[in-house]
Amino acid sequence: MRTRLDNIPPKVIRPAYRKIFTLLQRGKVLEHFLFLEKYYLISADGTGVFSSSQVHCKNCCVKEHKDGSKTYYHQILGAALVHPDQQIVFPIAPEPILKHDGAKKNDCERNASKRWVADFRREHPHLPVVIVEDCLASNAPHIAKLTEHNMRYILGCSEGDHAYLADWVNAMEGEDGPSFKETIEGVTHEYEYFKKVPLKGSENAPLVTVIRYKETKKKTKKGEEKTTKWMWVTDLAVTSKNIREIVKGARARHHIENQTFNTLKNQGYEFEHNFGHGNQYLNHVFSMLMMLAFLIDQCLQRLNKRFQGALQRCFGKKSLWERMLHSLYVYESIPNFETLYEAIVRPPPVSLPSVI
Ligand SMILES: [Zn+2]
Repeated sequence: MRTRLDNIPPKVIRPAYRKIFTLLQRGKVLEHFLFLEKYYLISADGTGVFSSSQVHCKNCCVKEHKDGSKTYYHQILGAALVHPDQQIVFPIAPEPILKHDGAKKNDCERNASKRWVADFRREHPHLPVVIVEDCLASNAPHIAKLTEHNMRYILGCSEGDHAYLADWVNAMEGEDGPSFKETIEGVTHEYEYFKKVPLKGSENAPLVTVIRYKETKKKTKKGEEKTTKWMWVTDLAVTSKNIREIVKGARARHHIENQTFNTLKNQGYEFEHNFGHGNQYLNHVFSMLMMLAFLIDQCLQRLNKRFQGALQRCFGKKSLWERMLHSLYVYESIPNFETLYEAIVRPPPVSLPSVI
């Protein structure tokens, strides 16, 4: 099986993701995921899926160390439909970050992102989306790519990495930037936005809207305060009315890390475990299949009452998987998953073999 899977390009698995997404759309499940009433929020980020100093294949990226040793690694660019008010995420087909045939340089998140955007648009040509990503993505070529494919964006940025833009905004402060402050349940929110700001100093730099946001809350009972600051660039039409929702959407970026990668790595999927590396595509085929299994579990978690009951009973996915395996050993006959979930919620008596 591993030998056969090793020869299959990971792209072959992509249509399964699209088919599930279409079913969710047709079943009106995604209505609860609408952002600013008409968009879907897609959070994307890179993550490591394999690293070794010995095991490697011809598609491994390689890091060469000063002492002559090497680290072989694979990463993926993951993406998921997220919503600030929803704990559930629905993964979109990820893009492998791998060394392509004949390439001398390592592949990187930026290149993978170009391929991901093109593939995503081919599969979802008319879906109105807003992409949320971290600071690494707020660069002119990526913004041009998103705009070319009619995708809106909210991208993190920092004063350190975007000094020109930060200087521009600091100069505008208090004059052109509408701002307001409000305190809700002890947390103070400060919002500011600046329109038509050049992303960088070059002539053809894209003009973006910059949002600055500060959150201050009490850290201790003694009243010590903690302030956290964020800055994003966007091409959405920001107003004083919608800025709260846009900031919530921007902060939902972390759902790709917390609800997606962390679940895959720490809730029993063993995303980083080497189930067999192969010599070509096996590692990424396993990553794509594991992410697909996670997508199916997310659908069950959202839609299947028995799955929800079993998950609640086990207080987490890792112990649910263990209980499912255990049930398969304990009970003689379990005809389908519905019965299995039901058996976890209401365990039937175990029939003991009769003694003659
Ligand atoms: Zn490899």
